[in-house]
Amino acid sequence: MKVGMIGLGIMGKPMARNVVKAGYDLTVFDINKAAVDELVAAGAKSASKPAEISRECGVIVTMLPNSPHVKEVVMGDGGVLESARAGTVLVDMSSIAPLASREIYEACGKKGMEMIDAPVSGGELKAIDGTLSIMAGGKKEIFEKVYDLLMSMGNSVVWCGEIGAGNTTKLVNQIVVALNMAAVAEGWTLAVKAGVDPRLVHAAIKGGMAGSNVMNVKAVQMMDGNYKPGFKLDLHIKDLLNAIDTGHGVGAPLPLTTAVMEMMQTLRADGHGQDDHSIMVKYYQKLTGVSIEAGG
Ligand code: NAD
Repeated sequence: MKVGMIGLGIMGKPMARNVVKAGYDLTVFDINKAAVDELVAAGAKSASKPAEISRECGVIVTMLPNSPHVKEVVMGDGGVLESARAGTVLVDMSSIAPLASREIYEACGKKGMEMIDAPVSGGELKAIDGTLSIMAGGKKEIFEKVYDLLMSMGNSVVWCGEIGAGNTTKLVNQIVVALNMAAVAEGWTLAVKAGVDPRLVHAAIKGGMAGSNVMNVKAVQMMDGNYKPGFKLDLHIKDLLNAIDTGHGVGAPLPLTTAVMEMMQTLRADGHGQDDHSIMVKYYQKLTGVSIEAGG
């Protein structure tokens, strides 16, 4: 099967490598030429624009930052739809607004193209391992057509409903991760203020009810003071803004999400937008003057 992939960032690059490893004939495009060169060295072909990919490939995967980027790549000048062929499937794995997924799906439909939204969870490490959790929306029969391709990048691939349902599920995921991370940062700061070593807190509670992947991965990053981005704070703010918009649209108030989003906005204003989202702990450092790095 000829597969195209557009967007080779922190996530897209390792995902593309796994698609090549699984034996697919892959053609890639990114505005960052260095990322394209790395994939070509790993066995992929390169294209000069998205329209060149849709001329060649029966399935096109996109892994881009947000709704405007996906719209530009699909619907813009030189975009996927410019040379779209009937029956080609767009698999948008970016985390974008569910409403935008539906708009892009409508535009694809006018050209005879199919689309599913299939965002992912698990971060860079699981993208490298090929063990992402993938949540998909769209026609069930189209989902089944691309299931094996998705399984080359993940180890859990679940159909969640019609188009947009994948991104609605992803918003739920991002709310739970953000609130969990704020809870870890808040609790760890209390421990330091009260004179208890946060590493011992971690050892004591990680196996109990409070334990989570966020605690295991992000609390450790916080204690190590390692904010090299696996997932950039700016992208998490984007997800929470999409969640708040979607929540308001369907009448679901999100009071906790809004509070955590404002904490993140404070950190962005302090210049931390490109840091890993575990930088959240610095918000508490601002409030209390203590660092969990120093206490760890
Ligand atoms: P990233 O910023 O590292 O990568 C985005 C890539 O898209 C870059 O290589 C950029 O050059 C490329 N790009 C942007 N505009 C483009 C265009 N017009 N044409 C071609 N390429 C273009 O982001 P990422 O961390 O890889 O995240 C990608 C998506 O996956 C986002 O929606 C993010 O929310 C989601 N996501 C990220 C993680 C994570 O841990 N990083 C986890 C799950 C989901």
